[in-house]
Order: sequence, then C-alpha cells, then structure tokens
Amino acid sequence: PLDLGNYELRMQASMTYMGWPRSEASLATFPIPQVFLDEVDLWPVPRKDTMDAVDLSKARTTTFPHTSKVLGVTTCTVEDALGWENLCKCQEVRVYMTRCPLCGQLQIMRREQLKWDEDLEAEPDRVEAENLAWYECEHCQEPWGEVERRRAVQAGAYRPHGWDGKAQWWEPRPAIRRAIKVGFHFSSFHSPFVTLGKIAAQVIKAQSDPRADVTLFNKMLALPYRNEQATRSEDVILQLCDERPPGLVPADAIVLIACVDVQRAGFYLTIRAWAAGPERESWLVRAAYFDSWAALGKALFQDQYLDPQGQPCVISFGLVDSGDGEMQREIFDWCQVHPPYMPSKGFEGLKAQPFTQKKIDTHAGLLAFNINTNYYKNDLLDGKLRISPGDAGAWHLHSNWPDGKPPDNPKATGLLTDYARQLCAESKNELGLWKNPRGRANHYLDCEILQLVCADYLGLRYMGRDQDPEQQASTGLDDDSQPLTRSHSRW
Ligand SMILES: [Zn+2]
Repeated sequence: PLDLGNYELRMQASMTYMGWPRSEASLATFPIPQVFLDEVDLWPVPRKDTMDAVDLSKARTTTFPHTSKVLGVTTCTVEDALGWENLCKCQEVRVYMTRCPLCGQLQIMRREQLKWDEDLEAEPDRVEAENLAWYECEHCQEPWGEVERRRAVQAGAYRPHGWDGKAQWWEPRPAIRRAIKVGFHFSSFHSPFVTLGKIAAQVIKAQSDPRADVTLFNKMLALPYRNEQATRSEDVILQLCDERPPGLVPADAIVLIACVDVQRAGFYLTIRAWAAGPERESWLVRAAYFDSWAALGKALFQDQYLDPQGQPCVISFGLVDSGDGEMQREIFDWCQVHPPYMPSKGFEGLKAQPFTQKKIDTHAGLLAFNINTNYYKNDLLDGKLRISPGDAGAWHLHSNWPDGKPPDNPKATGLLTDYARQLCAESKNELGLWKNPRGRANHYLDCEILQLVCADYLGLRYMGRDQDPEQQASTGLDDDSQPLTRSHSRW
C-alpha cells in the first residue's frame, strides 16, 4: 500500500521510495537498484562544495554494481544545465531519426524543414487550429502531412550523435561497443500528441516573442535554449582583439595594472595597459590562470612585458579580490609583503561611492578596497565593451591567436575564448542588478572590474596624455615606484 507519510509505495515484490532534490535525507537513506530521476533540469543548481542531488541519488545504487540502473528524464533548459550536461557526458547519445516514407532516408527532424503558407504568418492560432503546416523531407523535398509524418516516425531509429555547441546541432558519431552510459534524445516532432500546425504556430510566435522562443526550444524542439544575445556578445567582445601578441604593451600606455581574482582552486589574472585621459583607453596585455601563489608571483614580478621598443614595463598597481572571504587572511598576508598590491572585496549594494578604502586592523599599513561591483559592471558591460575598437576609450584585447592570424580550423579555441565567455556570464535583472543565476564562471569579469577601480583610484581620467604618472599627486603611488618606459611612436 501507499504510505504517503513515509513516501513509500510497498508492493508484494518491490518497494518504491520517493525522494526530492532539496532533502538530502530523502535521497541518501536506502540502497536502491533502480533510480528514476525526473525533470533534473528543474532541480536547484547545486552549490559548488556539496554533492548535488543527482550524484546523491546515483550513489544509492553503489551496492548493486552489476544490476543497477539510473534513468534520468528531463525537459531541456539551457546548455549548461544539469540535464543537458549529463546527456552530453553519455558515452553514446542516441538521437531519434525519422525515415522519409517517400525516399527512405533517415533524418533528424528540424524546425527549418517545417513549412506553412506565408500568408498565414500573422495568424499562428489559425495555423495551429486548422493544422495548416507540413514538413519537407530534407533529402527529397517532398512534403509530409500528418500521415507521412507518423509513418516516418514509426520507421525511424535511434542513431549515435554528438552535440556540436558551435553549430547548435547534432553531428553523427560512430557507435560505441558496450556503452554503459547511454543518452536518448527526441522531440515533439515525434509525438503523436503534437501536430505540425502546433509546432509551426510556436515557431511563428517565437519570431517576435523571446518567451515563446524559450518554449519552442525547450518544450518542442527539445534543444537547449541559447540566448542569441549571449552568443552574439561573445563575438562582439572578441571583435575588440587587435593583432598585438599577448605580453606586448602599446606605446600609448602610461601605466600597467594587474588584477587578480582568487578562487580556492587558483588565480585568474588580467594585466592591462592604460592610457591617460578622460577616455580611459586600455589594452589587455595578459589574461591567465595559475594554480599557485608562486606561479602568480612569477607572472607579476618576473615575466617581462615589453613596449614596442623592447623596454620592459613594470606593473604599478593592482588589486587582489578576496571573493567569498575564505581566502581573505591568506590574501591579506600576501598583499602585505607584495606591494603595490592591495586586497579588495566586492559589494553589490548601491553605495554612494564607487569604492571606499578601509584600514585592516590585523595587517598594519594595508588598505582594503570595498567596491560597488554593480557600478563598475555597468561601467564595463554597458559602457566600455560597447565602444568599437577604432573609437576613443575602447577596451582593447590582444590577439585571439598565438601567431596573430586565425587558424584554418574555424572551430579552434582562441586564447581569449574563455575570457570572452566569462565576461558574458552575467545579465542584468529587472532591478538593474547584474546577476549570475546559473553560477557560470565569471572570474575574468571580476578581474576587469578591478581594473576599472584601479584606473579610478590612480585618477587616470584626470591625467593629461603627456603627463608622467609620477608627477600626479592623486595617483597614490609611492614616490619610488617606477614609471612605465615611454615612447611616442604608436603601436
Ligand atoms: Zn524523402
């Protein structure tokens, strides 16, 4: 009988336990040979340091090494959600293909082949009600009505594929012998309950309504919804690349600033060269990740950053973000013995000042920067990144390719692919606050926010183009700090 109090269903030969993702106890109690996970993508996003609910449920099967099965089912949401990630991690992903009843060819049904009368574009509801759409075979271009579609589905088969994130579509893969992790993918195109007219109506509505677009992708095409805006902005960011190799400081720069985002696993660093003047023009010289203080120290104090004349430039100032505070003590200790670096901490709250400085009681002489992150995210994401690379005040990046020119393989990963993606990690909510709801990596974004803080702190916008930063009282730099070597030839 069903024991709702204990969330159990007892039958003569079996026992069914029910659990839910927010309760570890309900997921971690009994050994279970068969685990069924429903709507995994709608489960809460796990915290970084805990086992997520999916892993917890899978662990129930540990004591049944040869007979256990875990089946997860989910509606798609976005590409970096649990469900899609787990699907793509399967050794083999079998995608359902329909077989055209007219030419006999297999194909994955796709939205581009769905057709309707163009006159009906303004009446999606009529397309749905009267089922006025048809599907065109991608091989023989013959139209399928509902009857042909049903025959095509019945004669179809699963075939192994891999997801191509760049093309946002499937590509065929060889089958794997004795795979133990297999994923299956099918869409509304294969459902007898959803008419072609209904899908077509959704496609029409999605053209003008982003919400309908999400429904179309997730509920009908069973594809992760990819905000086109986000994809585009990654490309827009990479358009800020010039042909400068990493490590080279442009001639117009007067100061080199290094900012670090500290994570438990390692350090993200950006080094930027800044020009003087109200435009606050700057150039990325290096963006890198290190897994030790020693490696970070080498990048900051030993590695050479040369100007076009071959003169080494010295980093004049920098901030080290203490993030969630766990590393705070270590960061304070490090900053105390590594001038000119200062610790910083971000605050989202809308303060009157973009940043403030506070003495640290435990570390004499050390100042902590408290930063209004939202102010600087607006400055960067809504401001700096929108300036085209030819205009004054642009946010320049070094070349995306080690030898300055794009490789033959268009799918190759550039030096700054990760950087660009991280700068797009956040979006603004209805209160005007920048949020990262899916917990995407955003460490380079944090570094670049600090760069803007440093530029303000040094007063770069109030300096004349031909002034030496050392002559400026407002810089806050020690008198013995070295200026960058200068030259007047343009890069
Ligand atoms: Zn055909």
